[in-house]
Formats: sequence, structure tokens, C-alpha cells
Amino acid sequence: MRVIDQDVPEPGPREVLLEVRRVGVCGTDRDIVAGFYGDPPEDSTYLVLGHESLSRVAKLGSKVRGFKKGDLVVPTVRRNCAENCLNCRNGESDMCLTGHYKEHGIKGLHGFARELAVTDADFMVKLSESLLNVGVLLEPLTVVEKATTQTFLIQQSRMRWEPRKALVLGAGPVGLLAAALLRLKGLEVHTVATRPRDSLKARLVEQTGASYINAKETPLDTLENRYDIVLEITGNTSVALEAQRLIEVNGVVSFLGVYKGQQLTEDAGRLFTDLVLGNRIYFGSVNANKRYFQQGVRDLTRIMNKWKGLLDEMITRTTSPDRFEEAYRPEDEEEIKTIIQFKS
Ligand SMILES: [Zn+2]
Repeated sequence: MRVIDQDVPEPGPREVLLEVRRVGVCGTDRDIVAGFYGDPPEDSTYLVLGHESLSRVAKLGSKVRGFKKGDLVVPTVRRNCAENCLNCRNGESDMCLTGHYKEHGIKGLHGFARELAVTDADFMVKLSESLLNVGVLLEPLTVVEKATTQTFLIQQSRMRWEPRKALVLGAGPVGLLAAALLRLKGLEVHTVATRPRDSLKARLVEQTGASYINAKETPLDTLENRYDIVLEITGNTSVALEAQRLIEVNGVVSFLGVYKGQQLTEDAGRLFTDLVLGNRIYFGSVNANKRYFQQGVRDLTRIMNKWKGLLDEMITRTTSPDRFEEAYRPEDEEEIKTIIQFKS
């Protein structure tokens, strides 16, 4: 990692120049820094990081409509694949068939961890000024917007379904936003994580009216409740296996982690039989298209208004671009979201 000087990019007719305000740091960024993945643009030998962002429009391309200079905006992360597959050309690049999509700050496109950046105006949503401090949390929220929307679409199209209990595995930024979103939907929510019950994470979970379970005191395999909805966000393979046992009859679990290769001994027969006899559904969900960003803007506002200070408290560290090493260093236990502030 290093800081470099770049020329000010010039937006094309359908692009905008963004004056970046804030960039969020997440596990994906740290995995890129560690070399697990990440691809620079074709004409570049380096990749600018940053896919969670909040910017102001600084300049509009000649054909851009619906935005003006000064608008507070968040661009989506993924852009259509070169083949423009069925799903990409229908506004669902999150469901891309070819895998040849590009992602700002991750794969084939520079990210937003810079003072000025350009992006395609068709992949951008506008935020109200009230979201100036917490709008950088929109991108992580969209991941749960997609998973929960798809959960309800799947379930309500196959039967009459009135979910009551939801389990969230993980209390990082995505897990906390998942608990808040499911509470907004009126569900009884239980969140499991490994921090003590007097930690900030536990306190933020409880602020939404969800209950917090410390897995070190109450291991997952001792939970007696069964849940209509389970969201697996830890990315831990053993937790993911355990998640399948916690689903209620007709229930659904979605997996949102990236699981590192791991061989485990497991009674696969029992898992499949449970799946069949309980009409259960397991599905995976990744990324989010513009629809989920639009939905996320509405829900982020609702979360901000309903639980005062919750979103602000999730931002546990703010650094400046010249202290980038501090921002990307490995996560400490009390950290929730670190952001880089480009302009105050
Ligand atoms: Zn595609």
C-alpha cells in the first residue's frame, strides 16, 4: 500500500466526477491488501482501494440527468460484464452469469479511496443531507437488503409465511445492520457473536431491541430456539454448518460470508434429510444492485431516526488518508467500522 498522485480524472458523457468524502474499510479490503484477491484495471499496474463510499457530485458528464453538482451520492460497487449477460443487461449485475463483471476497488476498476474519482451515473443513488455522517454505511447495508428481500421473495412465493424469529450470526457492521433491519420488519431478533455482553457490539444489538448471545458463554449447539430466518455473516465454516441446524420447519438460511477452504467431518446425510423433511432452504447471496441501494437509503434513514446514535456509534475509528496504514491494519476486537475521511 502506498499513497500516489494521480491526474484529475475527466468524466465521460454518462459519468460524474466525485469529490469523495468518506470511505469505509472492510474485510474485503484487508483481504485485497493481504493478496488473497483484487485485480487492477487493464491499463493499470495498481488498484486504488475503496468500495464503501460517500461522495459529492463535483462535475457532470454532458448526458447525465437526475443529478446536480453538490448532490450527496453513493455509487454501487459492481458494473456489467463485458458480455452484458441476461442479468447484467436487466439491471441485476449482482446476479451476473459470466463472472466477468467489474467492481470498483476490487476487480478491474479503481476504487474510491481518493480525493476525486469518476463513476457511471447510472449506478449511483442520491442521499439526503441528513445522512452526511452515516451514509458511508449504505454499501454494507445493501448486502443485507438483498439477502432479506430475497428471503421474503423466496418464502412468500412458495407458501403462506409469517416469520417471527430471526437469528443473525455475527455482529460486525453487516451483522449489526442486519439486526436493525430485521427489527424494523418487526421480527424477534437474536444476534450471536463472541464479544462479551458488556461490549459495544452487544450494546448496539440491544439498542435495536434484539437480544445478544455471547457464543463463548452460550455455544451455538446449546441454543434451543429454532428460527424462521437465519443470516450467516461470520464467514466461519463451522458456524455455517451449525446454522443449518437452527432453522425452523419451512425456514430459510442465507449465507453471506466467504468461507476459507476447510475439511470437516459432518453427517451429510442428516443435513440433507433435515433439509427435505423440514422444507428448508439454504441460499447464498452476494453484492447488491441499484434497487437494493435505493431501498437501503430509505431503511438507513429509518434506522437513523428510530435508534438515535446507533449508526454513529458503529463508526469506531476515523483516520485521514495520510494515516492509511492505521485504517487498513488488522481489525481489533472493539472495532466495528473504520473510515477514512477525505474531506470534512
Ligand atoms: Zn453479467
